[in-house]
Amino acid sequence: MRAVSNQSDGFKNSRRQSHLMELSLREEDIVKPSLLPYQELEENVWLKNVCAGCRACISVCPAGTLAYDPELNRPQQVTMCVECRACLDVCPRMPANIKNIGPSEILGPYLAVKNVRSKKNSGRFQNGGAVTALLTAAMEEELVDCALVMGEDRWAQKSYPRVVYDVSDLEKCAGSKYTSNTVLEPIQDVIRNVNNIALVGTPCTVQAVGLLRKSSNEFAMKLAHKVRFLLGLFCFEAFSDQLIPEVTRRLCVPPWRIDKMSASDAMMTISLRDGGIKTIPLPEISGYVKPGCKACADFTAKLSDVSVGGVGSTPGMSVVILRTPEGVGLFKIAEERGFIEAKEGVKVEAIEKVGKLKLERNGF
Ligand SMILES: Cc1cc2nc3c(=O)[nH]c(=O)nc-3n(C[C@H](O)[C@H](O)[C@H](O)COP(=O)(O)OP(=O)(O)OC[C@H]3O[C@@H](n4cnc5c(N)ncnc54)[C@H](O)[C@@H]3O)c2cc1C
Ligand code: SF4
Ligand code: SF4
Ligand code: SF4
Repeated sequence: MRAVSNQSDGFKNSRRQSHLMELSLREEDIVKPSLLPYQELEENVWLKNVCAGCRACISVCPAGTLAYDPELNRPQQVTMCVECRACLDVCPRMPANIKNIGPSEILGPYLAVKNVRSKKNSGRFQNGGAVTALLTAAMEEELVDCALVMGEDRWAQKSYPRVVYDVSDLEKCAGSKYTSNTVLEPIQDVIRNVNNIALVGTPCTVQAVGLLRKSSNEFAMKLAHKVRFLLGLFCFEAFSDQLIPEVTRRLCVPPWRIDKMSASDAMMTISLRDGGIKTIPLPEISGYVKPGCKACADFTAKLSDVSVGGVGSTPGMSVVILRTPEGVGLFKIAEERGFIEAKEGVKVEAIEKVGKLKLERNGF
């Protein structure tokens, strides 16, 4: 993909120096042309290798200026920028936004923490199926028109963003996708036809939607108004697409034999369709961790309405952190209508321990 420049290249350095000498001007006396907004992203995020890959800048852009380059692990400019600055408002890695991303504690603000399990059983759930059950409640009770989640091509083990309009498809999308956080990609198209969305994301996506919600930019507000429930997943790290070929090579199995993957306790556990279980120590695949994940300081998706994870839960259940009145409302409806069962006893210290480990690993 070839970047398109909005500006002329300016003076070549040598010509510029002689010009300055002629004019007896110092470099610092020259007023530099201000950067275009996407160039600010380039300078502060892309070239510093801290892009989270959340696609918020691409999704909010009214001009289709940016496209994601998977080889560079970041967006780049492909068409003219109309300088609306929406992308700068929503990028969770722009230095000016980091202060809006919430307190530095691991758990962040919350109203209640519970062990939750779906009343339905499914081998597709990652933990207790709390996310799928909450989304099911939101759709069956007609609180939202659709859910934005990550689907999966189970033959190739490739994940992709999926817009679910039919509750029966939610279970097909259950389970953690460790190689993709592209759930925001379809949002610009989706909001044309629906009023209310439930969106699931890793903490970087949740931060981006949190920033959308705080922004007064017209293009950001257009998207933010439609996200009724923001469900965040705990996330220690995510991996590049090359993880799947590496796993299948190590295990000597084709991708379609993999049923489920689960990262916890320093191990990637791979369940196969024939019932076999294989493990790979996470340090052995650390080379596949996405570069932007090493600059990530949020483990529990602190800007969500409801955060969900595995660590600290009773076996077979998910930890659910209720953070906002909207999150509590959704939880109560799901519980009263029999979609979920909940109990106390979450080991909060276990969540804090993993969260601190992530901060230390990433140099915070
Ligand atoms: C990359 C990644 C790393 C994680 N790391 C940890 C960890 O270190 N510790 C921990 O306790 N928990 C971690 N989790 C969360 C955990 O694996 C479960 O997703 C969570 O506990 C919810 O389980 P559940 O059974 O309630 O969800 P389910 O009912 O199985 O539903 C999961 C939902 O999340 C959606 N989803 C899956 N992957 C993604 C994604 N990448 N982006 C957006 N939506 C997605 C699915 O489409 C589905 O709707 C991680 C999740 C991901 C995606
Ligand atoms: S969102 Fe606005 S400022 Fe950013 S790249 Fe697109 S047009 Fe330019
Ligand atoms: S972190 Fe997200 S919003 Fe920021 S540049 Fe990367 S993809 Fe765009
Ligand atoms: S660690 Fe998780 S939340 Fe952080 S940038 Fe990577 S995918 Fe996003």
